[in-house]
Amino acid sequence: MKNTPLILGAALLSTSLGIQAATYIHAGKLITATDNKVMEKVTVIVDENRITDIQKGFTRAGEDDRLIDLSDSTLMPGLIDMHTHISSQQGPGAYMERFTLNEADYSFKAVHFAGKTLQAGFTTIRNLGDSYNESVALRKAIEKGLVQGPRIYTAAKSIATTGGHADPTNGRAKVLMGDPGPQEGVVNGVADARKAVRQRYKDGADLIKITATGGVLSVAKSGQNPQFMTDELQAIVNTAKDYEMKVAVHAHGKEGMIRAIKAGVDSIEHGTYMDDEVFALMKKHGTYYVPTVLAGAWVAEKAKIDGFFPDLVRPKAAAIGPLIKETFARAYKAGVNIAFGTDSGVSAHGDNGQEFRLMTEAGMPAIEAIRAATYHAARLLGAQDNLGTVEKGKLADLVAVEGDPLEDINLMTHISFVMKDGQVIKLN
Ligand SMILES: [Zn+2]
Repeated sequence: MKNTPLILGAALLSTSLGIQAATYIHAGKLITATDNKVMEKVTVIVDENRITDIQKGFTRAGEDDRLIDLSDSTLMPGLIDMHTHISSQQGPGAYMERFTLNEADYSFKAVHFAGKTLQAGFTTIRNLGDSYNESVALRKAIEKGLVQGPRIYTAAKSIATTGGHADPTNGRAKVLMGDPGPQEGVVNGVADARKAVRQRYKDGADLIKITATGGVLSVAKSGQNPQFMTDELQAIVNTAKDYEMKVAVHAHGKEGMIRAIKAGVDSIEHGTYMDDEVFALMKKHGTYYVPTVLAGAWVAEKAKIDGFFPDLVRPKAAAIGPLIKETFARAYKAGVNIAFGTDSGVSAHGDNGQEFRLMTEAGMPAIEAIRAATYHAARLLGAQDNLGTVEKGKLADLVAVEGDPLEDINLMTHISFVMKDGQVIKLN
């Protein structure tokens, strides 16, 4: 602490002389993500936490400036994962955790997983469901610099209906089941729906997540039945709009998706049983699709292992998991807006980049998969003025891989450089 006055003095001096140190990044290739083009040999200049210029060629840095040589690498915007659960991770025994863990346990896990996520190049995440609002606390701690992790936009606890996918007491013995309400994210009727949204606003959530149909990993029979009535969906969307919150919707079955899209939600997550009618409706309403192919592949794989999932879950995982990749392929061909999301916490945190390979295997060009995780993700967040592209004036969230990810998409799982908010987090 005793050095503080000296550092402060130096900063004041350099500011008054107009020679504030900047960071010059020499990039062999640059994906700005504003379009499908790739620039070669450019210098990206970062001052404080903003991108202040992009210059052709390798510009010489001033004496006081910092030079980062990425001349053998491809630089791109910081990656954005639109579907994570940062405070939990699936694995053998994960179903016991709701009986054995408290708020603080989830919070420490979240700190650990947030670090892994940022190291993997994901400088922003949208968190779609936690247990005790721990992702709100994590967001605040990261913003204050107490913990290293991505920027967080969180829905806090998901909203479901009684027995629905995000009812936290599904599968419990009666004595432990209770009767959770809007505060816990379980609603029945319009008044409950409004209260649950307002409660999340009060809790500090940034957006709303609802589970419009059954899901794979909940201890319940159906993975696709509709679980909200139209009036409940409308109440959620209208209330969320009043509070300037977007609505993300977990859905596998067609009927639940159609009701949600018509109510005006912003994104459909997973979307397993989408068909041409759903694609057309999404295009009409401008609804985004967040596919989470990685989660589908992961649960399908684990469903082969005896005893990995509870008996009610295993057949759903085996049936729904493998379909998502094919649904994504059709949605892409149909021209639906797609934003990148992994459902990480299903697969391991830090493995988020594996989604890129699955997306390209399903027919999406690598550049478009990268734009889904940058340009499109930022648009769905409503953060396109600050995030999602490498442009003058945007926040300095940047990542790089050695080589060219458009030639080898697997490089997206080997991020060698991470800058968040102008700060170098990783430089290999
Ligand atoms: Zn999820």
